[in-house]
Amino acid sequence: MDKRPWEANIRKVVPYVPGEQPAGDRLVKLNTNENPYGPAPGVRKALREMDAGGFRKYPDPAANALTAALAARYGVGQDQVFVGVGSDDVLGMAFLTFFNGEKPVLFPDITYSFYPVWAELFGIPFKTCELDSSLRIRKGDYGQPNGGIIFPNPNAPTGLLMGLDEVEEILGRNQDVVVIVDEAYIDFGGQSAIPLVSRYENLLVVQTFSKSRSMAGMRIGYAIGHRDLIRALNDVKYSYNSYTMNMPSIILGAEAVKDEAYFQETLGRIVATREKTKGWMRELGFDFPDSQANFLLVSHGQAKAEWLFEQLKKEQIYVRYFKTPRLDNRLRITIGTDEEMEILRKALEKLLQFADVYAG
Ligand code: PMP
Repeated sequence: MDKRPWEANIRKVVPYVPGEQPAGDRLVKLNTNENPYGPAPGVRKALREMDAGGFRKYPDPAANALTAALAARYGVGQDQVFVGVGSDDVLGMAFLTFFNGEKPVLFPDITYSFYPVWAELFGIPFKTCELDSSLRIRKGDYGQPNGGIIFPNPNAPTGLLMGLDEVEEILGRNQDVVVIVDEAYIDFGGQSAIPLVSRYENLLVVQTFSKSRSMAGMRIGYAIGHRDLIRALNDVKYSYNSYTMNMPSIILGAEAVKDEAYFQETLGRIVATREKTKGWMRELGFDFPDSQANFLLVSHGQAKAEWLFEQLKKEQIYVRYFKTPRLDNRLRITIGTDEEMEILRKALEKLLQFADVYAG
């Protein structure tokens, strides 16, 4: 069919593909790195007590209750905190705000697959730096001329963590550009770079409520950095949509931050389950980087990842499979409850008995 004239003006993009969100309670959902435990009890209470009459009004555009709670939790000024609709919103806004130069922005070749999508959407030049053969970030690559740097720590989907000294080494070599550290998974075993923001004005640390704080459905993310970076982010935000955060997210997010004990307890449970899972995965013959996040990136010499993915789905067990170079024989598996991981273990044991037939 001939192109209709108005089609010439449509922006062409290749979108990010989010993980499946299948309906139903009986399935084991280990495909999008959610937290298996519910949010803090105070969040449930605040939700019960919420007055829907308040929805009549616009929310606080600055989300003060939430930025104040985060500032107190992390020991920074409230003017050093920016919040958004999930860290995707915060990261997208940060790409738009800080990566506005001519030189390429650098990020790893295997990383959060939204980075190249934002770069393409906003017309930002970028260059990917290849991970080494053990899937680690090569710090040396981040010494070349660039217009900005972004990487997750721990990286996703490898789960591999860089020490704070290594993060600082990259920062030290890149003081003329904004460096963004995406700490979506840092609470599961790493040291945050937030303490470095007082010494590096060009550092922006981004975190989320979707994983360690168990509130993916509420869509809350935040960035912490020098107040001039936060001001720049807000200028872009207010040039696009003043009311990004809805009222329930502001109130419930602030509640979640207050309950440190619950946060630490659920984190401890996930980390314990992760380490236990590593043990039996190894016994079953799986290979994986030593993840410090709430997921493992596994492969098996006798069973193709895509086959395992399809078979597990038939058992109502959802894991993540990326059909992309270097990842297409691996599965990314979220750490769920002990019970969920036991269901997975039994299913994998059964499948591996047949695996020889399908190997190749
Ligand atoms: N960064 C990384 C590395 C992620 O894996 C994710 C989860 N998809 C995000 C950011 C975004 O998470 P959210 O928008 O739910 O905060």
